Amino acid sequence: MSKPRLAHVVLGGCEGCYVSLLDAGEGLLDLLGKVELVASPILAEDDLTECDVVIVEGAVTTEMDERKLLAARAASKTLIALGSCAVLGGIGGLRNLYPTREVLEDVYGEDKPSEGLPKLTRRVKALSDVVEVDISIPGCAPETEAIISALTNVVEGRDLDLPRRNLCDECAREKRALLEPTAEFLTDAVYGIMELDEIDPALCFLEQGVICMGPMTREGCGALCTGAGVPCRGCHGPSRHDFEQGAKMIDALAAVLPAGAIMFLDDLVGTGYRFSMPVSVFPEAYDHGGDEDA
Ligand code: SF4
Ligand code: SF4
Ligand code: SF4
Repeated sequence: MSKPRLAHVVLGGCEGCYVSLLDAGEGLLDLLGKVELVASPILAEDDLTECDVVIVEGAVTTEMDERKLLAARAASKTLIALGSCAVLGGIGGLRNLYPTREVLEDVYGEDKPSEGLPKLTRRVKALSDVVEVDISIPGCAPETEAIISALTNVVEGRDLDLPRRNLCDECAREKRALLEPTAEFLTDAVYGIMELDEIDPALCFLEQGVICMGPMTREGCGALCTGAGVPCRGCHGPSRHDFEQGAKMIDALAAVLPAGAIMFLDDLVGTGYRFSMPVSVFPEAYDHGGDEDA
C-alpha cells in the first residue's frame, strides 16, 4: 500500500515552526518512515500534487503567499495550519495597524527598491481568511511534541483532540485570588517583570501586578513560560474560536485596575493582540484601503 503523501509549505513567517519540527530528531525520522515527503524546505524540488496532508506555516503576507496557499488547498485532502502565524496571523499581523505604504517607508525609507520586492497583500491574513483549514496547531512556535503527535495521528487516520481550556488551568502557579469573586484581587498598578525587586516564583503573575495573558490564552504548551519564570504572551491564541483574546484581556484588566489606569499601559493593543490581530474584530476597522504603492 502506498504511503500518505505529505507536504510542508512555508508562507510569511520566521520558519521557527519548521525548526520546531526538525527538533523532533528521532520522532521526525519515525514520522518520515510513515509518509512520502513530496514538498518541504529540505527538498531540492517540490511536487505539490495530490497530497494527503499539507502542513502550511506562516501567514499570508504577499500575493505570492496567497497563490501558494490556494495551490496547497487544491492539492490537499487535509490542510493543517501550523503555528500562530498560520492560525491567527501571528506577530507580523501587527502590521495591519498601518497602511502598507507606511510600513514599507518605515523599513526602506527613501531607498525603497522600485522592483524586486514581493507585492504585499493589503493586510496580513490567517490561512482561514483565504481557504478552509481542517486542523489548527497554534503556538509560536508550536511545541515539537505537539506537532509530531498531531501529524502522526493525522497520517494514521486518527481523530485529534486538541486542548481548548485556558492556560491558567495547566499553570502550576498558585492562584490565591484569581478565579475567585473578590474585591481584593489585584494590585493598584501594573508592572513589567523587570520593575519588581522581588517576584514570588510560585504565585500567579497577575496577582503580583504583572500582566500575564494566561486567562485569555488556549492551553496546550504545558504553561512553558510561566513555569520558566516569565508571564504568558498569549502565543496559543484565544481559548475558543469566537473569543476576542485582546479585548477580553483589556476588559478584564480594566475591571481590576484603579479607574482609568488602563489608559496608561504601554502598548495595550500589542499586548492583547500580539499574535491574533488578523483574526480579531479589527481587520475591517483597520482596512486602510488600496495598496497601490506597496
Ligand atoms: S508562528 Fe512563530 S515560530 Fe512559527 S513562523 Fe510564525 S513567528 Fe515563526
Ligand atoms: S501566572 Fe498567568 S497563566 Fe498562571 S495562573 Fe496566573 S494568570 Fe494564569
Ligand atoms: S506560556 Fe503562553 S506564550 Fe508561553 S508558550 Fe505557552 S501559550 Fe505561548
